This record gives sequence, structure tokens and C-alpha cells, in this order.
Amino acid sequence: MMTMKQVIFPDGVSVPAIGQGTWYMGERDGDKEREARALRRGLDLGLTLIDTAEMYAEGGAERVVGQAIRGRRDDVFLVSKVYPQNAGGQKAVTACENSLRRLQTDYIDLYLLHWRGGIPLAQTVVAMERLQQAGKIKRWGVSNLDLADMQALWSVPGGSACMTDQVLYHLASRGIEYDLLPWCWRQSLPVMAYCPLAQGGKLRSDLLDNPAVIGIAKELRVTPAQILLAWVIRQPGVIAIPKAGNDAHIKENAEALNILLSDAQLHTLDEAFPAPRRKTHLDIV
Ligand code: NDP
Repeated sequence: MMTMKQVIFPDGVSVPAIGQGTWYMGERDGDKEREARALRRGLDLGLTLIDTAEMYAEGGAERVVGQAIRGRRDDVFLVSKVYPQNAGGQKAVTACENSLRRLQTDYIDLYLLHWRGGIPLAQTVVAMERLQQAGKIKRWGVSNLDLADMQALWSVPGGSACMTDQVLYHLASRGIEYDLLPWCWRQSLPVMAYCPLAQGGKLRSDLLDNPAVIGIAKELRVTPAQILLAWVIRQPGVIAIPKAGNDAHIKENAEALNILLSDAQLHTLDEAFPAPRRKTHLDIV
């Protein structure tokens, strides 16, 4: 059996390079059981990192995750996120405890600041340290921070204990390769790539219908979506977190952990979707 590609956090804990997203889960009562089943199927196939947030369906996605991981908490690496307006002081404790209740667990493996808001980073770091000391979170990180924000974080006491930056990254949005990704590599900091399949809309069909992507998918007898995931995790220290709501997609995504793109295939993709040559603002959704 092939070994799944892993990514190692600075504290030595390793996770599979593909996890499971949950945005838009928990929105409708009638879908929740199916969504929880889909996440469990992903766990069965080795997609043991689950990414969620207090924001998603205003707690609904965390409730679905709670249902999915019941009885198998130890198999899961659980990531959740705090709203920026809750990321300090007593509000952070309350937000985290609410997430824990919805998730039906007593700890979160990795707790992220969802994006930078009005609360000073130094206060967020203190809040994260307190949650960690209380055992409510094992480690903490950030999301949607560009290089200047990361440097600002590194300049506050305790800021460099951050364990990840979760940012938008896919074949048609490569801006982080210019400066943020190399900087994270220098700090041995894994990057979590959200929207690795470009989510919905025209960009997504541009990607999935792109002749270069389709050609390589045919060569390797896999799907275009699997090429996009294999491309995101082609380099060390990058974790892709696609959201999938059906069995076929989950199976494909798990199998993408074992797809290796050749230099020639990567070159073809570079020509179709060139790497950035100058600084661009961090893409967000
Ligand atoms: P994705 O790029 O993961 O795209 C999700 C879409 O792709 C869904 O419509 C899904 O359909 C479809 N899909 C999944 N697998 C396949 C497949 N193998 N073949 C074809 N289609 C597939 O977008 P997301 O926005 O969901 O991003 C992923 C996750 O990242 C989120 O769920 C969330 O956890 C996180 N995120 C974080 C953000 C942040 O600010 N930190 C912002 C946005 C996302 P179906 O459901 O039918 O399987």
C-alpha cells in the first residue's frame, strides 16, 4: 500500500496533505445526516483533518462535524476558527467553549483566527495562549493573513508560535507563491489551501474544463479535480482542504493523495496558469 502524503506542523504532529472542508454544511436540517455521513466516509478513507468554523452556518457546520466524529474523536485532527471580533479576552473563551459544545469534544487540535479584524494581534495571541494552557486547544494559527500581517504577527510576543496560515490557493490563484509561501517555508510553517477546487462559478469551470488539466487527467486516468488537488499538494508543507458532499467526490479526493505529477506535467500546467511574477494582494472569498 502506498503511504499517504503527510505534512508536519512545527510541533511535530503530522496530518495527511488532504483534509475535509465544511463550508456550507449544516445550512439545512434535511442535509445534515448526509453531510455527517460524508465526513465519516472521508475519515474512513484517511482524510482525518476536518476544517470548520464558528461562522459556517452560524455554528451549524460545527454541529454536523460533532455528529460526524462522535465515537471517533481520537482519529480526527479538528480545525476550527474564531470570528475576528471574538478573538480576544473573555469573548475568545466563550467562542471557543461554544465551538467545543457544538463539536461535542473537549479540545480543538488547531484553532485559527478567521481573518484579521479590529482586535490587536497581541491580544489574540494572549487569548490563544490562555486557551492552550486551559487545554481547550492544542495549537493555534491564523487565516487570510498576507505576508505583512504575518510579519506583524511575528513581531508580537508569542506570535511566532502560530502553526499555520490558511489561505486561498488553487491553480488559477497562485499569488502566494510569490512571497507568502516561501516565507512560510522559511518558518517551517504549513500553509492550508482553501478553495483548492476554486469552489463554484466560472473560475471553477475554467479550471475543470481547461485542456491542459483535462489532458493530464486523461494521461493519469484520474479526474480533473484530482489533478487540481495533486497540484496544490505537489510541494511540501501545503495541506488542501476540499469540501465534498458526496461519496464519489470524497473517494476521488482521498485518492488524490497518491497522485504524483511529473515535471513535464507541472510544466504544462505552468504554461496554462503561470506562476506570479510580482506581488498581488492575497485572494479571499
Ligand atoms: P472547494 O474548492 O473545496 O470546492 C468545493 C466544491 O467542489 C463543492 O461544490 C464540491 O461539491 C466540489 N467537489 C469536491 N470534490 C470534488 C471532486 N472530486 N470533483 C468535483 N467536484 C468536487 O471550496 P470551499 O470553498 O468549500 O473550500 C474548501 C474549504 O476551505 C471550505 O469548505 C472551508 O472549510 C475552507 N474555507 C476557508 C476559508 C477561510 O476564510 N479560511 C474560506 C473558504 C473556504 P460536493 O459538495 O457536491 O461534493
